[in-house]
Amino acid sequence: MKVLKFGGTSVGYASRMKDVARLINDGQEKIVVLSAMSGTTNTLVEIADYLHKRNIHAASETINALQQKYRTHVDELYDTDACREQAWEIITGVFDQIRSLAKDMFTLYEEKIILAQGEIISTNMFNIYLHEQGINSVLLPALDFVRTDKDAEPDMDYIKENLRRVMAEHGKADIYVTQGYICRNIYNEIDNLQRGGSDYTASLVGAAIGAEEVQIWTDIDGLHNNDPRVVEHTFPVRRLNFDEAAELAYFGAKILHPTCVQPAKSANIPVRLLNTMEPDAPGTLISNDTERGKIKAVAVKDDITAIKIKSSRMLLAYGFLRKIFEIFESYHTSIDVVCTSEVSVSMSVDNTKNLDEIVSDLKKYGNVEVDTNLCTVCVVGDMNYDNVGFEARIVDAMRNIPVRMISYGGSRYNMTFLIKAEDKVRALQSLNEKLFNIA
Ligand code: ADP
Ligand code: ASP
Ligand code: MG
Repeated sequence: MKVLKFGGTSVGYASRMKDVARLINDGQEKIVVLSAMSGTTNTLVEIADYLHKRNIHAASETINALQQKYRTHVDELYDTDACREQAWEIITGVFDQIRSLAKDMFTLYEEKIILAQGEIISTNMFNIYLHEQGINSVLLPALDFVRTDKDAEPDMDYIKENLRRVMAEHGKADIYVTQGYICRNIYNEIDNLQRGGSDYTASLVGAAIGAEEVQIWTDIDGLHNNDPRVVEHTFPVRRLNFDEAAELAYFGAKILHPTCVQPAKSANIPVRLLNTMEPDAPGTLISNDTERGKIKAVAVKDDITAIKIKSSRMLLAYGFLRKIFEIFESYHTSIDVVCTSEVSVSMSVDNTKNLDEIVSDLKKYGNVEVDTNLCTVCVVGDMNYDNVGFEARIVDAMRNIPVRMISYGGSRYNMTFLIKAEDKVRALQSLNEKLFNIA
């Protein structure tokens, strides 16, 4: 059985939902994981922000406007009034619940319930549409089988056992529809797998059922060799191995959520990235196979901060790095790139929530300098250290860019540069020209 995940843009309008229904209706049994219709989760975040700030008026206007949008979607999606009514009743229930949560004390608990509603609406609308088209589908509530553990990590054993149970309870169907992104946590509260987390759900579900393949359907024909939002003339990469895909996702290739690779890799299930608007395009296949000696793609991650600590008391004695890293750990801040010299260490982070506290703690061990407005540019491919020459090619492409840090050797799959945000476009264009021969 295959698992197919359709992102927000793939189900963003009634017409798109109809396209998806046609695309999946091929007589093969499958699980379909859906995101919220595009824009909905952003609007739900906005509503929650207003409610945290007790701006009830703005929240209520935003809730009304969002509900109104769904009125149009429902009118356009169905052929029959019976289905329109069935869907509208569910949607009205959802919006009534959001309004009732807006009345009292508003905490993270209520916020997470609100954020879950986009996927609850889209899957219900879609499932009703499939029934209207005479397709034998059932809706499997993700909240009944996706759960995180005490470390807020997905509980794979629970997911496996309960997905099987929920499927058995709902009886045989051709198409099983479920929600991406949403889950329950260890306290049985509604929670989520972080923004963009529907990809993660698809991979977890794929691993749980030992799927033949996980397909991530989106608005572009696979993972491109460079960020299509930043540079022109990018092209789809046909094959990646799991580690290359994980590096690219982690370092900014938005097409794939960074957490999505691991469950599929562990279960050795290939992941295919496909385009809903161009279903026959081959897309990108992610598997265990490596194309030897090939540089595959470049990704960029914005809003990066570099922190340098120059040891005041000692050269880099043993125990120094541990002390430094423990400070980051105590503030739940992960470090992306590390470079060391004899007396100093530079590190990059993207989470600056506790930067002031971190800097103040680091000052115990030396002089601290902070550089903001940076980005990491990550070049990915088979860069095993006995392949010679790739470092020279990559560094040559960066010859006119001021570089704050370079990292290679952490894995055999990437070389990463920390540069100023203002040099991002120039760097990506130059890498496109020099590594992929695209002007
Ligand atoms: P979905 O809503 O389907 O989850 P996303 O917006 O999360 O879609 O991901 C698809 C987008 O990722 C593309 O529209 C593209 O702009 C962006 N993207 C960033 N880097 C890459 C890349 N290297 N290859 C393909 N798409 C990328
Ligand atoms: N709807 C969620 C979001 O917008 C999850 C997803 O689309 O993957 O982040
Ligand atoms: Mg996405």
